[in-house]
Formats: sequence, structure tokens, C-alpha cells
Amino acid sequence: MKLTRLKIVGFKSFVEPADFHIEPGLTGVVGPNGCGKSNLVEALRWVMGESSHKSMRASGMDDVIFAGSGNRPARNSAEVMLTIDNGERIAPAAFNDADTLEVSRKIVRESGSTYRINGREVRARDVQLLFADAATGARSPAMVRQGQIGELIAAKPQARRRILEDAAGIAGLHTRRHEAELRLRAAEDNLQRLEDVLGEIG
Ligand code: ATP
Repeated sequence: MKLTRLKIVGFKSFVEPADFHIEPGLTGVVGPNGCGKSNLVEALRWVMGESSHKSMRASGMDDVIFAGSGNRPARNSAEVMLTIDNGERIAPAAFNDADTLEVSRKIVRESGSTYRINGREVRARDVQLLFADAATGARSPAMVRQGQIGELIAAKPQARRRILEDAAGIAGLHTRRHEAELRLRAAEDNLQRLEDVLGEIG
């Protein structure tokens, strides 16, 4: 999956709109301590559907919105937009005609966040699956956080297996299997109820 552009507005320390063009090859982010390097990577994980505020170093989801500094007031919303080259046609059928995909996530204070793919509102799950199927995403080993190597070494075998499954691009299948199991269970319950009713009538 080729990420080509990242736009950040009002997310954490990015109070001014920031527009990054991601060139092919290796990208490095350098800068002094506290300049926002980790915030940039968090913006990327957030637009990919990260749902844990703890892993965004925040105490609540609204904490990712610029909270004000010095003479600058806090903002009421934050938005991150990620452009993906869809030349390899990796998108779900509904979007797969497009050459590029623009995935965006916007959060408004006390109103939660919304996701869009090419302007159309979608569920968090749709965005998470889009990245999971391409073996990337908010929890993917493609993005290595500070301290993550140490965590990997100390991890239990099951946690390590999850990392391998993410890398193999099968994480999305687990989500789909779980949803299919829930639907199957609901259908079995309905059948059971039907049999009870039929038994009463008979
Ligand atoms: P280091 O090299 O020390 O790891 P870094 O370049 O990764 O630093 P970050 O941790 O990304 O820096 O950025 C930290 C800065 O972001 C701090 O100055 C902090 O005040 C600011 N910050 C974090 N959340 C918000 C927010 N919601 N609103 C405003 N500023 C924020």
C-alpha cells in the first residue's frame, strides 16, 4: 500500500494545517525533542482507525484535538486526511474504480469522530479493514513505535502470533469470522424460537 500524502489540521500540536507529500522510498522524520514527531505518527495511526486513546497518549479521544498553547486558543475539531495510491486496486468494491483513495477522519469536541473514504461517510470498521487487508493499519508492525522492539521481545507467544498475522494481512479475516459467528448465533436463536412456536401451535 503506497501512502502518498498526509494532511493534518488541528490534531495535537498541528494547530496550523500541515500537508506532507510522501515520496517513494524511505521517509524519515527528524526534529528536536517535543517538536511533534510522535504526534505525526499518531495522526497516521488515528486516521487508520486507532480506537484506543491510551495508545494515542491521551486520556480521552477529544485529547487529540489541539488543546491551546500560549496565545493560541484550543480548537474545536481535528482532521487527518491520508491519500493512498490505489493503482494496485486494494480498496473495497465500492471504491475500487478510483485511482487514489482519500481516507479522512474528523473529530468534533464531544461529538465523536466520523470517517470518510473519497468523500463518502463510512464506518470505522470499513477503514480498519481496508488497512488490515493490505497488511497495514494502526496496530500494524509496519509502524514501529518508540519502545515497541522491547515490547516485542518481552511479549507472550499469543501476542507475537497476532503481530505475524497482521504482517500476513489476515487480521481482517478474524474480524469477519467473529461477525459471521455472531450472525450465525442470532440465526440459530431465531430457529430455536421458531421451533418453540411451532411446537406450541402443533
Ligand atoms: P520526542 O523526540 O521527545 O519523542 P516528539 O518530537 O516525538 O518528541 P511529540 O511527543 O510528538 O514530540 O510532541 C509533543 C508535543 O506535542 C508537546 O509539546 C505537547 O505539548 C504537544 N501536544 C500533545 N498533545 C497536544 C494537544 N492536544 N494540543 C496541543 N499540543 C499538544
